[in-house]
Amino acid sequence: MSLTRKPATRVVPPRATVRRSRIRRPAPAPRTHDVNVVGVPVSGLSMTQLVQTIMGWTETEGMKVAVGVNANVCNLAASDASFRQILLSADLDYPDGQSIVWAARALGADVPERVATTDLINPLVAECALRGKKIYLFGAAPGVAARAGERLAERAPGLQYRARDGFVSEAEMPALIAEIDAYDPDILLVGLGDPLQQAWVADHRTELHVPAVLTCGGLFDWVSGSNRRAPQWMISAGLEWLWRLILEPRRLAKRYLAGNPVFLGRLTVQLLRARLTGARA
Ligand code: UDP
Repeated sequence: MSLTRKPATRVVPPRATVRRSRIRRPAPAPRTHDVNVVGVPVSGLSMTQLVQTIMGWTETEGMKVAVGVNANVCNLAASDASFRQILLSADLDYPDGQSIVWAARALGADVPERVATTDLINPLVAECALRGKKIYLFGAAPGVAARAGERLAERAPGLQYRARDGFVSEAEMPALIAEIDAYDPDILLVGLGDPLQQAWVADHRTELHVPAVLTCGGLFDWVSGSNRRAPQWMISAGLEWLWRLILEPRRLAKRYLAGNPVFLGRLTVQLLRARLTGARA
């Protein structure tokens, strides 16, 4: 079965019947566009600020979406206008990849650190457990999200979660949306890979009644232990992509071996233009 993008046609019950009321507070001031990296906006929030921002969203009405940006996301955005539009309309685009931090700094922006979703998840679930917030994990192969939920609950005792794998047919989609809404999560993690996960959120945005949504790629594979994360020295050196390439050469060769030079080329053009025109990103 494959996950398709066509929006479901289900009639959604009124919001009040599917979720408890939330405290109405203004959302924290958005800082979504601190720098433009090859056409994609990137926020300069630290990990702590990002966690607080997302937790703030869980106290507000309406849905807010955060998207991790890496070189692959930038490349996809450059070749797909509708994907780029989704990134532009996200409430927060944060630097998931080290290359984005380097690029942002080269462009003169003050981006404090890389916020890999695989790292962000730990303080985020700790806050959720502390504040009694519920999360829903959607994505990855059967059983993987459930195992990821178990691991996260071990790290953050008391964490409330539900999980569902990411291979859902179009026919099953209305039931999945109803299940998510009935669980009434505070945060929905969508791990379907780029660009499918952003397209899925865009397609189902009006049906979902979740205040905070994060697209999270292969997060559940890492957290569940299905994939082993790179050694710390590789992460620190900005070489996590190489580790991933070694783990899955067939699937990721094009993404990294062809994609990284393309990203670098686009960045070089942007840097040269900025130098020639004196414009900031
Ligand atoms: N996936 C999914 N449904 C699909 C296609 C992919 O749940 O229809 C999952 C896949 O099992 C994997 C994730 O999406 O867990 C994509 O992982 P990838 O490593 O490509 O994402 P990245 O972390 O690089 O963004």
